[in-house]
Amino acid sequence: MTTGMTMDLDKPRDECGLVAVSGSGAAAELAFLGLYALQHRGQESAGIVTVDEKGAPRSHKGMGLVADIFDDATLKGLEGSLAVGHVRYSTAGRSDLRNAQPMLVEYQDQPLMLAHNGNLTNAQELRDRLSREGSIFQTDSDSEAIIHLIARSRRQDHDQKVDDALSQAVGAFSVVVAIGDTIYAARDSRGFRPLVLGRLGEAVIVASETCALDIIGAAYLRDVRPGEVLKIRDGHIEELRPLPPAEPSACLFELVYFARPDSRVWGCSVDSARRKFGRQLAIEHPTEADCVFAVPDSSNSAALGFSETSGVPFEFALIRNHYVGRTFIHPTQAGRDFKVRVKYNPVRETVEGKRCVVVDDSLVRGTTSRGLVTMLREAGAAEVHFRVASPPVRFPCYYGIDMPTREELIGANHTVEEIREHLGVDSLGYLSMEGMHAAVANHGPFCDACWSGDYAAPLVDLMRRKEMQST
Ligand code: AMP
Repeated sequence: MTTGMTMDLDKPRDECGLVAVSGSGAAAELAFLGLYALQHRGQESAGIVTVDEKGAPRSHKGMGLVADIFDDATLKGLEGSLAVGHVRYSTAGRSDLRNAQPMLVEYQDQPLMLAHNGNLTNAQELRDRLSREGSIFQTDSDSEAIIHLIARSRRQDHDQKVDDALSQAVGAFSVVVAIGDTIYAARDSRGFRPLVLGRLGEAVIVASETCALDIIGAAYLRDVRPGEVLKIRDGHIEELRPLPPAEPSACLFELVYFARPDSRVWGCSVDSARRKFGRQLAIEHPTEADCVFAVPDSSNSAALGFSETSGVPFEFALIRNHYVGRTFIHPTQAGRDFKVRVKYNPVRETVEGKRCVVVDDSLVRGTTSRGLVTMLREAGAAEVHFRVASPPVRFPCYYGIDMPTREELIGANHTVEEIREHLGVDSLGYLSMEGMHAAVANHGPFCDACWSGDYAAPLVDLMRRKEMQST
C-alpha cells in the first residue's frame, strides 16, 4: 500500500507483510507470531484487529517493531477467533498511526478490516473518482480506496461487492479483507506480491511468506494463485470467481532481496534461488581471490553460491549489528559513511592483506557498498572485488518495493565502469539479466521491471499525470 494525499508517483513505494487467521481461539497470538516472522517486510508500524464472539472488533496498532507494540495484556484484549495483522514500512507517505493497517471501519453494522501488500497503480484515479462521488477518505493510503469501492458497490452480496471492488483495482495487491466473521484473501491477476495459505488444526492461516507459517507450526497448503479470491470462514476455504486473467508477473526482487531465505516464494526456496544467483555470478564474473564474503544477511546465500562454484573460500568478514533500527539517529558531526559503519564492521584479521570478493544482493543507491569498501580498505584489504547477485537496478518499482527515484538509482545514471570507480573497487560485476532469469526459469514468469523498465500492469496514475503535465 502507498500513501500520500497527492501521491508523488516518482517517490519510493512502501513495503508490507500481512497475516490472517480464521477459526482459532488463539487468533491474535498466532497473528502476532506471524507478524514477528514477517518483521523484515515492514518496520514502521504494525497492527492486529480481531472480531470477538459478539461480532465486535478489537484493535491494537502502534508505531515501531512488532515485539515492542504487543505484550501479553494487549494480546489478551484481542479476543476472537478471527484476526488480521499487518506490518508496514513507508517512505512515501506520512509516517503516522493513521496510516497503520489493518484498516478498520464499520460497514453495515459489521466490522470491515483490510490489510494490503502491494501498490495500486490507479490509486489516485480511484480516489479522485470516489471523492467526487462523495467518499470521505480517513487516511492518505491507497488501500482505503478498496474499502470505499466495497461500500459503494451496487452488487448484491459481500462476495460480489469484494469482487466488484478488486476488479477495479489496477497494479499490485495481495490483500485480506474481513467482513464480520468472513475473510476474503486475494491476489491481483498478475500476482506481483506473494500470499500463501496454511493450516493449523482447524484454523486457516493466510500470510505473505511461509516463514510466518513455520513459526506457528502451521502446514503450508499452497500459494494463493494470481487472480484468485478465497472466502474463508471458521476454518473453511471456498474458491470464489477469480479476477479477470492476466499474464502472471511474480516479483523477482522478492527472491533477490526482500523475502526471508527460509521462506518458499514462487514455489521455490528463497535460499536456493539466491545460491543459484551466486553460482551464476561466479561463472559470469570469475576472479582470483583469497576469500569471498557476504554483506549480511540478505546476500549470505548468494555469497555461498559464489564460493561453491568459484572454489574461493567463504568467510564471515563483515559483521552486522542487528539492533540498528530504521530510525537510528545519526550525529550530525559523523562522516558520510557513518550510517554504514553503525551497521557493519569488518573482521580485520580476515581481510588484512587479502584479495577479497564482496557479494551483495543488489546495488540501489550505492551508498552502502561505497562505505563498505572504504572500511575494507581501512582494514587492510589488498584488493576488493565487488559482485552483485542481480543486474543494475535502473527503474523505480510501482508495485510495492521501496525504491528511490530514478535520479538516485546509481544503475540508472552510470555505466558499470563509472560505478566501479565511484565505489573504489578493483573490479565490479553484476549478474546478467539472462543469468538471473535462467537460474529460476521454472518459477516464472517474473516481473523484472526494476531492472528492465517493462511494467506489466498499466501505470495509470503516472500516465494521467504525464498527460496533465503535457496539456
Ligand atoms: P544502497 O546501494 O546503498 O542503496 O543499498 C543497497 C543495499 O540495500 C543492498 O545491500 C540491499 O541488500 C539493500 N536493499 C535493496 N533494496 C532495498 C529496499 N527496497 N529497501 C531496503 N534495503 C534494500
